[in-house]
Amino acid sequence: MFEDTHDEHVLLTPGPTPIHPRAQRALTRPMLGHMDPEVFALNSEIQRDLREMYGADEGTLTALLAGTGSLGMEAGFANLVEAGDEVLVCANGSFGRRMAEMAARYGAKVRLVTAPLGEAIDPADVAAQLDDSVSMVAVVHGETSTGVLNPVPEIAKLVRGTGALLTVDAVTTAGMEPFDMAKWGVDYAYTGAQKCLSAPPGLAPVAISERAFSRFRARRTPPPLWYCDFGGLRDYWVDHSYHHTVPVNLHFALHAALRAALDEGLDTRQARVRLMGRVIERTLAPLGFSPYVRRPQDRLPTVLALRLPEGLDDAGVRGALRQRGISVTGGLGPTAGVIWRLGLMGESARPEPYRRLMTELAGLLGEPGLVARFDAAVQEELARDLLPA
Ligand SMILES: *Cc1c(COP(=O)(O)O)cnc(C)c1O
Repeated sequence: MFEDTHDEHVLLTPGPTPIHPRAQRALTRPMLGHMDPEVFALNSEIQRDLREMYGADEGTLTALLAGTGSLGMEAGFANLVEAGDEVLVCANGSFGRRMAEMAARYGAKVRLVTAPLGEAIDPADVAAQLDDSVSMVAVVHGETSTGVLNPVPEIAKLVRGTGALLTVDAVTTAGMEPFDMAKWGVDYAYTGAQKCLSAPPGLAPVAISERAFSRFRARRTPPPLWYCDFGGLRDYWVDHSYHHTVPVNLHFALHAALRAALDEGLDTRQARVRLMGRVIERTLAPLGFSPYVRRPQDRLPTVLALRLPEGLDDAGVRGALRQRGISVTGGLGPTAGVIWRLGLMGESARPEPYRRLMTELAGLLGEPGLVARFDAAVQEELARDLLPA
């Protein structure tokens, strides 16, 4: 039975993340209509702030889709791919494979570039499969299923010289990791509200470059998905005409969370993720936890994938943590029982929630020194961060 206990639950998962207090407050604002001038004013602030978050230029159309990150993914293929198009998909984990499946459903001829589990896509493998017949290259920036960061700037450099569009899944990166849409030459990017922004799930912030929009306009046939047709999106977000009823309360919350992120500063957020990653690794290393991704440059800072110590009862420990109000995510498919994926996106990348984890783990694993080690690591890393380089 569902019990509304209002107990504080600690989410250390790779999404959803704990809701930012400013977003939580914004959810209580009284309802307004989706065509209300006040909502259009709020929307245009969201559009401006999204351009900043994505590092996008003025000509880029930013907007929110009423759905989760996967809708952002699907909208890109639905609008920018036509039957028979050659689409090169980088797939080194489950979200890359989701991209390949979606592209195929919209009629693309999919060329796959893969990498061994726990390794980043090699730009040389992209170069080898890229030719003038490719109309789109799609890549996941941070592959959540394995904690791998793909080299998007290097891949973008290869794509720039061709006629292909570049689609980037920025779900675990935008708002928390460097992301420079204009400088890199990304044509379509999306994220989910409940990841790095710590807003409630249900919105997919997207950015569509002018080049992508021209490609959309040049389609031979309208996109098979009416709901997030880029033209309809533009009608509402730019011309303020009705397309469908947007979830206004979620817009309030996302607006607040996005403002909070930019007020904090994107650089500060990047530093916060890295600091917490070092603290957690240092605290857990003596127990036998080690980085799952071999090469340091391939590690995704926002999803810390740690190999479990020999003999640790993965399901048992995570089940006991859940009973104590803490959610930790294990591996997926081949990494199930092998790794934990600790979320460091948005509000989870702070000492307080991880101190709760260490407190409970200390009891469960019989490691009384764990919390003191955690506190010491936080202090040392903070001191290190404050010192001039
Ligand atoms: C979570 C996630 C998605 C899907 O987002 P949903 O909000 O679950 O639909 C897509 N890509 C990546 C990299 C993700 O981490």
